[in-house]
Amino acid sequence: MAAIKTIGLLTSGGDAPGMNAAIRAVTRSAIYNGYKVKGIYRGYKGLVDDEIVDFKTQNVSNIIHHGGTILKTARCKEFKTDEGRQQAYENIKKHGIDALVVIGGDGSLSGARQFASEYDFPIVGLPGTIDNDLAGTDHTIGYDTALNTIMWCVDRIRDTASSHDRLFFIEVMGRESGFLALNGAIATGAEAAIIPEISTEQDQLAELIERGFRKSKNSSIVLVAESPVTGGAMGLAERVRKEYPQYDVRVTILGHLQRGGSPTAQDRILASRMGAAAIDALMEGQRNVMIGDDDEKIVYVPFSKAIHNDKPIDRELLEILRRLSI
Ligand code: ADP
Repeated sequence: MAAIKTIGLLTSGGDAPGMNAAIRAVTRSAIYNGYKVKGIYRGYKGLVDDEIVDFKTQNVSNIIHHGGTILKTARCKEFKTDEGRQQAYENIKKHGIDALVVIGGDGSLSGARQFASEYDFPIVGLPGTIDNDLAGTDHTIGYDTALNTIMWCVDRIRDTASSHDRLFFIEVMGRESGFLALNGAIATGAEAAIIPEISTEQDQLAELIERGFRKSKNSSIVLVAESPVTGGAMGLAERVRKEYPQYDVRVTILGHLQRGGSPTAQDRILASRMGAAAIDALMEGQRNVMIGDDDEKIVYVPFSKAIHNDKPIDRELLEILRRLSI
């Protein structure tokens, strides 16, 4: 493999708090170790459209505490085509980029994997998504902040729920996974979490009602993971109105509130460690791996293991939730 001199860096897919901390860590670690850094704007779109600039340490000053991403992010259809990736490769050569660090979720790392295999090009990925749905890492960058935002919001909704004796379905993000809903439910003392991992096995709503739901309480909060599999908060509320009209049901969809905001200390530290590890990985000759954390230790996870792989939720947490909501 030719020696790496210049490292390109991009953020792609959905933004997540902590991406800026990761950008800072990758840039500064790379420069510290003698590499040049090129910042690529708007994810793969900037690679295709040639929005690529030199990045110095000052470019990443004063960003660690901001949500979003200073490199911007985008979704890019062209990168899914052979011609788009060819154009991206030409721009990579034009700017003398020898390796890429890609910060993003499942889709972004799938694109990285495809590109790396087609062009035999070294890429290291960082898991940047609030959904925590990448396998091989205990946490993704942004997840902890989103969880804290959910907690903040639900605490406020609880005041209204209890003042009015209402049943609230609160929809949270998570794509096809229930990490935010389940852990959010534990953190807020919610009645239940309705999550896609369980929806195909059992009727969680019917079970909730049957087990004497709200027997000893005057209000209830249920967190619902957005997903066609759960039916979302709207779908469930519709069902309750039809099947259990005795309940005064309300819906709140937290939506993009969950994405932004200043990252928590945990996310800043995780992003800083993972960003530094991305440069270590390249120096060690690693390629086509995602940086993960496993029991607080940094690990290199092959793209094939991280992407499109189910990451199981902790079923013990479901049991704890059930036990604590009596
Ligand atoms: P996330 O990274 O948050 O999961 P997306 O799924 O929207 O976000 O993916 C972000 C971008 O990654 C897409 O817009 C596309 O440019 C690229 N991408 C996703 N999947 C592939 C693929 N199979 N091949 C090439 N590029 C892909």
